[in-house]
Amino acid sequence: MAYPLVDLKGQVIVITGASSGIGEAAAKNLAAAGMKLVLTARREDRLKALANACGGAATIVPGDIIDPALPKRLLDTALKTYGRCDVLFNNAGLLETGPVDTIDIERVCFMVRVNVEAAFRAAYVFLRHFKSVNAGHLLNTSSIAGMKVRATIGPYAATKYAIEALSESLRMEFAKTPIKVTCIEPGVVTTELHQRWPTKPAQALGIAQPITADEIADMIRYLLQQPAHIRIPRMLVMPTGQDF
Ligand code: NDP
Repeated sequence: MAYPLVDLKGQVIVITGASSGIGEAAAKNLAAAGMKLVLTARREDRLKALANACGGAATIVPGDIIDPALPKRLLDTALKTYGRCDVLFNNAGLLETGPVDTIDIERVCFMVRVNVEAAFRAAYVFLRHFKSVNAGHLLNTSSIAGMKVRATIGPYAATKYAIEALSESLRMEFAKTPIKVTCIEPGVVTTELHQRWPTKPAQALGIAQPITADEIADMIRYLLQQPAHIRIPRMLVMPTGQDF
């Protein structure tokens, strides 16, 4: 017999990188599950459209995730608007790849700020709150590239290895408390992440059917629905045919 999953109705989640891809799909999915949302990204028009699609369950806080003041603004918005904050979905990210002679080091360093610095800052702001209320869930978007490298993706993989290391350390720090820490580790998902690539990764890697953002969103919902005594520290989700 299936065990009972947690009803997410009324719980509050802050989602970074909500204007497209995985963050956007997660927002729609979790709004449908009855959660209240605080959504952030730079593209305000996208956030407004998404908030409308979430049927009044969402508040938007447009901004650049590398702004060190943003995480506290997000938490304050959740507490002021909804009276609580249960989950941080630390998801904003970007991807720079390329060989040594052509990769743009300035773009690489900006990626490090978004994927690592901003994610670390948000994690600490929210975990201090979670600790103060003795509850909460930090969900970080890592990647298969947080577990394996291949030629030319070293800088991106390094940012995701950093997320994995922080997450595992935080998981241990909070292991004996009600606070949960999870990394979701997708393989290739069809989103705007690869839009500057001339050849899409599914094509390059020979994947007939990449994962959709909506499918990842279903898995995120499942992660959040686990009862208090069950933790899923890592969830690796790969499409058939992806051997990296
Ligand atoms: P998208 O490009 O569709 O989404 C990226 C999101 O991050 C957007 O909402 C974007 O918003 C936001 N973002 C990027 N830079 C900033 C910034 N400086 N300030 C604020 N927000 C920012 O890609 P995905 O949905 O695929 O990416 C989401 C996460 O999933 C990333 O962490 C990515 O590394 C990870 N991932 C993706 C995989 C894939 O195959 N797609 C596989 C494994 C992991 P805006 O531009 O409006 O600011």
